[in-house]
Amino acid sequence: MPEIPELEAIRGYFNEFASGKRIVEATTRIPVVFRSGAKALSAGLAGKTLGEVTRHGKFLLVAVEPGHVMAINPMLTGRFQFVPGETKLRAKTCLVLRLEGSERELRYSDERLMGKIYLLEAGQLSLIPNWDAGGPDLMDPSLDEDAWVERIKKYRGQIKGVLTKAEFVQGIGNAYADEILWEAKINPYRPRTRLSEEQLRELFRAARAVMTWATPLVRDSMVKDGVLDYEERRDFMHVHRLGGKPCPRCGHTISELTPNQRVTSFCRNCQPEN
Ligand SMILES: [Zn+2]
Repeated sequence: MPEIPELEAIRGYFNEFASGKRIVEATTRIPVVFRSGAKALSAGLAGKTLGEVTRHGKFLLVAVEPGHVMAINPMLTGRFQFVPGETKLRAKTCLVLRLEGSERELRYSDERLMGKIYLLEAGQLSLIPNWDAGGPDLMDPSLDEDAWVERIKKYRGQIKGVLTKAEFVQGIGNAYADEILWEAKINPYRPRTRLSEEQLRELFRAARAVMTWATPLVRDSMVKDGVLDYEERRDFMHVHRLGGKPCPRCGHTISELTPNQRVTSFCRNCQPEN
C-alpha cells in the first residue's frame, strides 16, 4: 500500500515533470475506480492543464486548471507510471493521460481495482466520503509534538492500531507503522494507555523521522533515467516483513505475526512487551 513516502516521492516527481503541461487526451479504460464517473472525468480533463500536486493523507491531489482537482487514493495496489507512449500497457491500466509536448504518458494502474479517483471542483473535497472525518496529515506543520500527544490520548487499544487509524492521523499504513514502532523501541501490541508521555513524544519524532528518511530512498527506487515506473520496493526497511532475519540494531531475530493477514514485524529485544 502506498504510504507517505511513496506518495511524497510521486508528488515531487509529478511537480517536476508533469505540472504545467496541457492534457491532450484522457482515456479512462476501467470505469470502476472513477468515483465521480469515467466519462465525466475524461471529458473534464481533456484540454485542461496539470497544476501543482499536493497530498492529504493517502490522497494525491492534482490541480487541474482551471478550477478543478483530481483526487486519487491508490489504496492497496494503485500504481503510477510516467513512461514513453510506446511502453506496453500494464494489465489493469485504468487511466492514461497524453500530455502536450511530451513523449511520455501519465498512467494509473490498479491490480485489485480498489483505488478511488475523483474529479471535483476546487474546494469541493469534502464531497469525498469520510473526507471530513479524518485527522490531520502526519506531516501537517500545524501538527506539532504537543498537538500529537493531545490527540493520541483520546485513543485506547494497541498502539499500532492507533497509529494506523485515519481519525487520529492520516498517512501511516501497516508497513511504516512497523518501522516507526521499531524506531521508537515500542512494542506494537502495547496498549496506548500504558505508554508514558515521553514514549508518546518519541513516537511523534520517530514517525516524522521515518517518513523523512524513507521518501528519497523510495524516489530513487521508482525513478530511472527520469522515467517513473513505480512498483512497490521496500528493501531498505529495518523490520517490516523481515521476520526471521536479525534486527539491524541488536541482532536478535525479528518476530513476525500475521493476525487477520496483516503482517506485524518487530524485535522482541528492542521492543519488549513490558
Ligand atoms: Zn532489536
